[in-house]
Amino acid sequence: EQHEPVEDARPTTPVKPMTATEVKVNVSIPEAAERAAATGADGVGLLRTEHMVLSLGKTPTRYIAENGERAYVDELVDGIRTAADEFYPRPVRVRTLDAPTDEFRQLEGGDDEPREHNPMLGYRGIRRSLDNPDLFAHELEAFRRIFEMGYDNVEIMFPLVNDAQDVARARDLLREAGVDPEKREWGVMVETPASALEVESMAEEGVDFVSFGTNDLTQYTLAVDRNNERVAGRFDELHPAVLKLIGNVIETCRDHDVKTSICGQAASKPRMVQFLVEEGVSSISANIDAVRDVQHEVKRVEQRLILDSVR
Ligand code: PEP
Ligand code: MG
Repeated sequence: EQHEPVEDARPTTPVKPMTATEVKVNVSIPEAAERAAATGADGVGLLRTEHMVLSLGKTPTRYIAENGERAYVDELVDGIRTAADEFYPRPVRVRTLDAPTDEFRQLEGGDDEPREHNPMLGYRGIRRSLDNPDLFAHELEAFRRIFEMGYDNVEIMFPLVNDAQDVARARDLLREAGVDPEKREWGVMVETPASALEVESMAEEGVDFVSFGTNDLTQYTLAVDRNNERVAGRFDELHPAVLKLIGNVIETCRDHDVKTSICGQAASKPRMVQFLVEEGVSSISANIDAVRDVQHEVKRVEQRLILDSVR
């Protein structure tokens, strides 16, 4: 008996192990979104907006002065859309701008940037955004337009917050820009020791999730410059002090129904994966090339935890 050849039923994404903990992917440039989506990741845990802006070759202020506000917002909308399309309906967590002044200085218009001794301790992330609400409003406007287009898979994340006040101000600006925080998924990075210690009051401001930025959390907790080779040997994301902060945040967040995630480089380290899964993290977001290994490591740890619980 002859059969029709079965249609090629191979999935377009690689078969991935089913895990309770979501495994997501970090995307630094929108052009990498297609490759990122092909990993079978459960979504984007961090879409950086820095490249979208730095690739304009001009500081936002200069770019807007020359091309207008609409063109600037268009650039952001295009970048976010590229990833949101590629992953739809999987969630894409977009982080508002977090470039330190030394990176802006290299752009056209960069001469107007402040000179700082310690850019990493200075004018970056949400601090700068809250200080320039008019400029920040363009970023938030991009989100408003994205939602208007129907991309309900986009989430908003604010970087480098320290406390409930930062969180509340960012959320209120989001609302002023026409995005209802009650209707959208939004959250913050936990990447300063202050934010880790203040997570309960931040949760009360209504965040849906927090994400560990272990690159910065390690740098600030251990007072080890992440870009200084002389102290690179002391840069240890698995340091007990860092893990203690992370563990406490996960516990507090569980009590407050806030999802927890990691998007720092340490997400690809097996020992960090073990620790986070044991603590009950909601999702782990790794670089494209590490997603596969993280998926399998998460599966391995989850299976071991199940076996341990029935023993
Ligand atoms: C982090 O700090 O871990 C992080 C993901 O943000 P960035 O590396 O962009 O500072
Ligand atoms: Mg960071």
